[in-house]
Order: sequence, then structure tokens, then C-alpha cells
Amino acid sequence: MSAPNKSYDPVEVEALKPEEIERMRDEALAAFAAADSLDALQEAKVAHTGGASPLALANREIGALPPHAKAAAGKLVGQARGAVNKGLAARQEELEADRDARVLVEEAVDVTLPYDRVPAGARHPLTTLSERIEDVFVAMGYEVAEGPQVEAEWFNFDALNIGPDHPARGEADTFFVKGPGGGTESGVVLRTHTSPVQIRSLLSRELPVYVICPGRVYRTDELDATHTPVFHQVELLAVDEGLTMADLKGTLDHMVQSLFGEGMKTRLRPNFFPFTEPSAEMDMVCYVCRGESVGNPDRPCRTCSSEGWIELGGCGMVNPKVLTACGVDPEKYSGFAFGFGIERMLMFRHNVEDMRDMVEGDVRFTRPFGMEI
Ligand SMILES: [Zn+2]
Repeated sequence: MSAPNKSYDPVEVEALKPEEIERMRDEALAAFAAADSLDALQEAKVAHTGGASPLALANREIGALPPHAKAAAGKLVGQARGAVNKGLAARQEELEADRDARVLVEEAVDVTLPYDRVPAGARHPLTTLSERIEDVFVAMGYEVAEGPQVEAEWFNFDALNIGPDHPARGEADTFFVKGPGGGTESGVVLRTHTSPVQIRSLLSRELPVYVICPGRVYRTDELDATHTPVFHQVELLAVDEGLTMADLKGTLDHMVQSLFGEGMKTRLRPNFFPFTEPSAEMDMVCYVCRGESVGNPDRPCRTCSSEGWIELGGCGMVNPKVLTACGVDPEKYSGFAFGFGIERMLMFRHNVEDMRDMVEGDVRFTRPFGMEI
């Protein structure tokens, strides 16, 4: 920077000569044009428009000029600085546009690429259906009860009025735990139904008893499309003063309406079970055709084979002998019970055609059920 000068003519001040100002302007514009990145442009900006830039220094020289020369010099420097700022802004805009376009390409995410995250899997539909059934009864005040899967014969048979000569006790149906002699004398079986939990519940709880017992049971069946040696049942037991078949029927109707929708109903057909008296098979109206396929060949129904009803399970009033075996006075208390297979309900509720799908653990089977909570 030159020292202030009170007397010289502007044309003699080197920094304020028009060709010099022009050179400064052109150098600045050339530097902006040469900047190939925003960082480089920032450096060029500091060098050519900052406080120490040639044009800024030239501008300061104006202050030292005699008054008559100030206007012309000011105009010259002002125009040059204006052109420089305009050039800078234009280049800035260009480089920002370049950067934005590049970022769009470089940082684009290809959402179609395969990913290596391990899928979370899904809960098994037998579990979710079982919990849904439990919820229906818990909402009515029932308690969920569980019992051992390896069970004493007394709980599995005797206490349920299934005597030693009953065909259900044959080795054909039951897995016996091998005794010391290699036979069935251990008195221990894999439970063939969830009914022993009824006995355990009656023995361990104060009356009245309202329990629902879901769980795994075992029979000596071969695995095929409609049988499996391990399957799941839900058992229900209510023992209180004054319970009747009407309470049983109302409870069943409420259950099928909760699980299958409004308007569903059940019917009872006489049957025999050792642990209930009277006993019945329970059917529910076919939830697909609602009975309209009966006698109507134009509208056949696969779900119920056009019979209008689907067999659900067994039920009845608890046999007084069972109550007595559990120390409950059958003169004062009565009860009802029912049980059914969860696999079977899953089959007709979700059109599962092969029971083997439920045990093979293929996620392609369970995943579509995974949204159900
Ligand atoms: Zn039907």
C-alpha cells in the first residue's frame, strides 16, 4: 500500500491506472474460472475480494487522491469490483450446481440391492392362535394353568375316571416312560391330553376354579397330513356352585364368536367321555358358508364338506367321580370342561392343508402368520 499522497495526479498512481485495474479484474475473473471446487473458489475469493486483495488496496488509494480525481477513480475501481463480485457469484452458483448433481449420483442408494440382514423370523401360528384363545378366556376371568408334559398315569388316566381296563390306556395310543424292567410299570406317561391339568388345578386351587390349560400332548401316531405324534390342545375347566350345561353352551358360543366373528354358534351332539357326564361333541357352524352349502349343490363348501358344521372338540359336565377324586363335593359343586386341538383349529381357520407344515419349521410357512400378535 502506498503512503497517503496529497499532491499526485491519479494517472500517476500505479495501482489506479485503468489498465492496472483491468488487469486486477481479469486476474480475479480468471482465478474464479480456474477454481474447480468450492474450496478453491473460496481461496480465490479471499485472494481477490478480501481486505488484502489488489482491488481493495487500490480502493484505499482513492482516499488519498485530490477531490477532483476521486470520482473517476472511484467509478473505475467500483465497476471492476462489481464485475469481480458478479463473476464470483456466477462461479459459485455453477460449482454448487455441479456439487449437487454429483452428490445425487455419488450418494444415491440402490434400494434394489440384496441385503445381508438376518430376517427376524415369525412366531409360530400355533403359539399365536393359542394365545388368542387364552385371551378370550382371560378376558372372562379365567386363569391360564400349566402342567407337566411327563405325567403320572394317575393324573392322566385314573383321576379322570379312565380305569385300568379302558382302551385309551393301551400302548397303542400312549407313550410310556420305560420302567426299570423295561415295561410300562413306571406309571409315567407322556400326557395324552391336557386334562390332567384340570386335576392339578382342582387339587392346588381354592374353589371356584376357572382355568384354561393350553399345552403340548403326545400320542403314538405317525406323522402324516392329518396326524402328528406331538400336538397341542386347549382344555377348559370351570367348577363352581350351580354351573349347568347352559353355562357350557354360552361359554362355547362366546368363544367361537370371539374367534370367528359375530353370529357364530355351536351345537352339542351326545357322546361319551369317561371324565364328563353328560358328554358331548361340540360343533361350530361353518364360518365359510354359514351352513348355506347344505343341500345346495351349486354352492359346495370345502371347509365343511357341505355339511354346514365343523367338529371342534369334546365337552361336558365334569363327572362327579372326577370331582370326588379331587376332593370336591359333587353335591355342592358342579363343573364343565371342554378341550380341542389347536392344530385342527389352525387347519380350518387358515386353510392349512397338511399338518406336517406345522412341525417342519420352514419359515415360508410361519412368516405369513408373523404379523399376527
Ligand atoms: Zn361350509
